[in-house]
Amino acid sequence: MILTGKSAIVTGSTSGIGLAIARVFAAEGASVTINGFGDPAAIEAERAALEAAAGAPARYDPADLTDPAAIERLARGCHEATGGPDIIVNNAGVQHVSPIEDFPADQYEKIIALNMSAAWYLTRAVVPLMKARKWGRILSTASAHSLVASPNKSAYVMAKHGIAGMTKTVALELATTGITVNCISPGYVWTPLVENQIPDTMKARGLTREQVMNDVLLAAQPTKRFVTPEEVAAMALFLCREEAGSITGSNMSIDGGWTAQ
Ligand code: NAD
Repeated sequence: MILTGKSAIVTGSTSGIGLAIARVFAAEGASVTINGFGDPAAIEAERAALEAAAGAPARYDPADLTDPAAIERLARGCHEATGGPDIIVNNAGVQHVSPIEDFPADQYEKIIALNMSAAWYLTRAVVPLMKARKWGRILSTASAHSLVASPNKSAYVMAKHGIAGMTKTVALELATTGITVNCISPGYVWTPLVENQIPDTMKARGLTREQVMNDVLLAAQPTKRFVTPEEVAAMALFLCREEAGSITGSNMSIDGGWTAQ
């Protein structure tokens, strides 16, 4: 178990990629703080399973990450309970698909707040705590959309390019501290976030469900299959290893060759 004694916050971990990351961290002995929305009984069952797998306390924090004050409380609560965090994964995110002239302003503000600004607020809150321990791993789930664009995703592409920029900047600021800062950029991963954008993309482009899956989503992904949450989680775990101590400021693509084109 390589994360025994470590404490990790994974935002947006009641589902999809974040849940897969929380599970691999717990399987390696980390005390994990999960976060996100969902059915309370299902979240409690997951929290208990993470605790059992880790042999260390697992916590659930319901913070709405569009609220900077709630993010402060998330960091403080983890610190008071565990002494950490040693690891954070800025992962919570939503999507909205629309041409820019029809893009609702409230959806734009939500995507920027959750997918980008929340990562900045949580990183800012935990850096002093990690510096005091002279070790840290700051990870963010970016996206292939941190490197390239697709139409009708202006807010999402802006937010993910912002994550890539923050990663490089903060990595340089912390380069001599024992804290690494990296982001992971998956292509399309089969999770509720992708499933939920199919109806909007059908509407925006006048396509059937099958056409959206094959001609839009997987069109850019040369492997012609969805990335799995577990493949992303394996990268997150690797970046937490001691051997990954020289990897900082990196944007790790897991996109089936999408951005190689
Ligand atoms: P998902 O919908 O399965 O999970 C999103 C998580 O965020 C859930 O736990 C949800 O409850 C949580 N969440 C939503 N709003 C929140 C809020 N206001 N405060 C706190 N938590 C909130 O999605 P996913 O596909 O697992 O996405 C996770 C991350 O991966 C996102 O940042 C997403 O942009 C990124 N990503 C996903 C894909 C993909 O194809 N699925 C590809 C590249 C990047």
